Amino acid sequence: MTNTKIVAICNQKGGVGKTTTTVNLGIGLAKEGKKVLLIDADPQGDLTTCLGWRDGDNLETTLAMLMEKTIREEEITKGEGVLHHKEGIDLIPANLELSSMEMNLVNAMSRELTLRNYLKNIKNDYEYVLIDCMPSLGMITINALSAADSVIIPVQAQYLPAKGMTQLVQTIGKVKRNINPSLKIDGIVMTLVDSRTNLAKETEQTLRRQYGHLMKVYSSKIPVATKAAEVSAKGESIFSYDKNGTAARAYANLTKEVIRDGEKRKDRVRSSQVR
Ligand code: ADP
Ligand code: MG
Repeated sequence: MTNTKIVAICNQKGGVGKTTTTVNLGIGLAKEGKKVLLIDADPQGDLTTCLGWRDGDNLETTLAMLMEKTIREEEITKGEGVLHHKEGIDLIPANLELSSMEMNLVNAMSRELTLRNYLKNIKNDYEYVLIDCMPSLGMITINALSAADSVIIPVQAQYLPAKGMTQLVQTIGKVKRNINPSLKIDGIVMTLVDSRTNLAKETEQTLRRQYGHLMKVYSSKIPVATKAAEVSAKGESIFSYDKNGTAARAYANLTKEVIRDGEKRKDRVRSSQVR
């Protein structure tokens, strides 16, 4: 597949819905017929657990091992380490090994490009690769941003994002200037939206005012929902756990929005090739 899109789901703040968004956008895309790979780039391994692989210490292969092999230029066989989920997506899992891996990266040549180099061999099998980033802007996250075509930023609607967003946007800018010139921000997705409070509205207004000229804010918003919290322990997506609920509807809408934006971009590329 020549049109693979690699998206980093990124925000250095924890608990904003990165992992939940990776699972449900990823499986949402698969339900729309896309071939999807999810990558757990957080040593906490939450994405891996959420998808049902609970015994993180006994994973046969992990992202850390595949990145180590990439650094050592060892051969990686086709499909090595890729887990298959019953809802039609693939997963590269992670566990705590990724923390020590992050330290090893410091001495590696092309340390920012290890994930990108690894993905070169595998990305052509997929239309979408979503990378669930960890809550820091360290070397693993820099690797994710260096490998990605674009970034989706989940923002928790209950807090006014101040310094954290500025720092994130600066880091994305730095990676773009120094390592990955084609990196784009696809948009901000508002998560944990409690429509009964004014805070959600205020957060959205603030985001639009401060960042609206730099990036879009998705019109699909993810509501706070008990089922969306429960599903992280079930090894499945919100579409199979509570398919008629508000969170499933919101993630289905977000999925459509993401696909639509991708198609608009393809059209633009096509027409610029014509000119
Ligand atoms: P992050 O990956 O950014 O740390 P998570 O996706 O793990 O964030 O979400 C943080 C916590 O909030 C988790 O316990 C998750 O189950 C819960 N959560 C995520 N989305 C929702 C939602 N829409 N409604 C209620 N709880 C949610
Ligand atoms: Mg997470």
